[in-house]
Amino acid sequence: MDILEIFPSVISWVADQQLWARSLGRPLVQEEVKWARSVGVEKLENVRVLEVEDFPRPSSSQLVALMSEYGFLGPDTDGITYGYSILIRRGKSNCRLLSHEFRHVYQYEQYGSIENFLAHYLTQIVEVGYEKSALEIDARKHELQDDNLPNSNR
Ligand SMILES: [Zn+2]
Repeated sequence: MDILEIFPSVISWVADQQLWARSLGRPLVQEEVKWARSVGVEKLENVRVLEVEDFPRPSSSQLVALMSEYGFLGPDTDGITYGYSILIRRGKSNCRLLSHEFRHVYQYEQYGSIENFLAHYLTQIVEVGYEKSALEIDARKHELQDDNLPNSNR
């Protein structure tokens, strides 16, 4: 089974999760706006953050199996970004994690649509794996540490 074969169901999962988290999530607070802007997010007002006890999983067992095979939504996942909606595991929110997820929002914006972003993102994950995918490397490179933030008071 190939993740690209079930690409349409991945797209609709991500789009549904974006909508769900948009309706329940909160907009960014002032310092988060600064972090998001500094990693390139354009439509800051569109971003929503939703804290969850655990991440919802698709009802398709095929999709769940593939996601866990590629390392998504496992016990080590503390954040995931669906378009403009960011899900964070409760209690795990911090500047580094949020700036990483904000960079994924930026990437979605650059690709112009969920479909286009996922086409590139999933291709990379399948070809070289999560750790080595260019979009994950880019997101890690843009993580802000608490001590090198613009205007951080140390
Ligand atoms: Zn990431």
